[in-house]
Amino acid sequence: MRRLPPRRKTIAEPPGPTPLSADDSTPAGHGGADRHDAFVALGANLGDARATLRHALDALARLPGTAVTAVSSFYRTAPVDSDGPDYLNAVARLRTACAPLELLDHLQALEDAAGRQRPYRNAPRTLDLDVLRYDDLRLDVPRLQLPHPRMYERAFVLVPLAEIAPGLVPPDCLAAVAGQVISPIPSD
Ligand code: AMP
Repeated sequence: MRRLPPRRKTIAEPPGPTPLSADDSTPAGHGGADRHDAFVALGANLGDARATLRHALDALARLPGTAVTAVSSFYRTAPVDSDGPDYLNAVARLRTACAPLELLDHLQALEDAAGRQRPYRNAPRTLDLDVLRYDDLRLDVPRLQLPHPRMYERAFVLVPLAEIAPGLVPPDCLAAVAGQVISPIPSD
């Protein structure tokens, strides 16, 4: 019987943090190593908000190299720094190969496709999509700040985020927004 040479043992170095630039558009792989965890806040207060959020969640799942891995309940909230009817809000977690600015481009295209108008800052909107977090990335470029700079002020972000990722929302942050009106709506 032919003897195989002894297998050489190699000790794998831990990969360490992957350097990531905001506009890195590395194509999607299938192994998952180049995927990132992103949290996206969804909101709508014009038109059929429930249908809009559902449609947006389907569209998020169709983004390149992207899976929606968790979705919170839908919540009805009173407008904060905005006006018009109550909002419907939710938060989704994505596993995505999109780079941060590429993800923002996709979100803004979905907002536009939903008929989003921007007549003035914080105007009522058919669809608002914000990136809350992208892994543990800290980014401050004109188009994109991460983590989202106002996420800790808003019950409509923190309550659904705490539902799907409780470890990301310290209890004192939730307590700080306890005065804001928010209620889950029954799913059907
Ligand atoms: P709005 O759609 O009114 O929430 O504001 C969107 C604007 O905020 C756009 O100009 C974005 O480029 C900018 N922006 C900055 N950081 C973020 C973020 N984390 N998620 C979404 N939009 C962001």
